[in-house]
Amino acid sequence: MAVYVYRCAEHGVLDVVAPIGTAPATASCPRCAGTATRVFTAPRLSLGSAPARALLDRTERSADSPDVVTRPPSPGRAPAAPRNPALARLPRP
Ligand SMILES: [Zn+2]
Repeated sequence: MAVYVYRCAEHGVLDVVAPIGTAPATASCPRCAGTATRVFTAPRLSLGSAPARALLDRTERSADSPDVVTRPPSPGRAPAAPRNPALARLPRP
């Protein structure tokens, strides 16, 4: 099985899994049932580690359709900045 990439004009990129050599020129978009045309990409010859693959997929996806946020992240979820001992010596207001 291979993963083939198609692009819907309205919903962007979608993946279709099919046997090698059987990819049609167009596919049906699962969201709008419209025609999605095939996009030729570099083959994924090395699977690598799952986190690395997920990072690469997310990076590629953000180039075409970046995530849009409606508000800044909540302060409770932000990672703590590393503490620098030199900052303790700075004057305080
Ligand atoms: Zn669509």
